Amino acid sequence: MNHTSHPVVRQAPFPFPGERFPRDLGAVVQRTVAEGRMPALVVIHDSEGDWLIGDGVNDPNLPDASGVYCIACMTEDDPSISETASLQPGFAAYRDGPGLPWTIEPFSYGGDEG
Ligand SMILES: [Zn+2]
Repeated sequence: MNHTSHPVVRQAPFPFPGERFPRDLGAVVQRTVAEGRMPALVVIHDSEGDWLIGDGVNDPNLPDASGVYCIACMTEDDPSISETASLQPGFAAYRDGPGLPWTIEPFSYGGDEG
């Protein structure tokens, strides 16, 4: 996966036009997903408007486990990620594997997962 380096922004007006991720919108992405080693199985749109994408398996809070990546570029590699572009703030989308439907659930920090 070759991410051309370009500036990313951390916030964009929501809802997004056409329910597509705007160009240059960045998300906090687990490197396992950004580097194509794991599929994206969790997409979080937190109540502050930040987007987080994870593999749903590994701990995204470990040092250097995550970085900021452009969501639109990621959807070129995995178009199914774009299905979560209409996710409301404070919600997360989960799926059990690539190509499976997303399940939307309320999301907040602080609670134990799972
Ligand atoms: Zn991009």
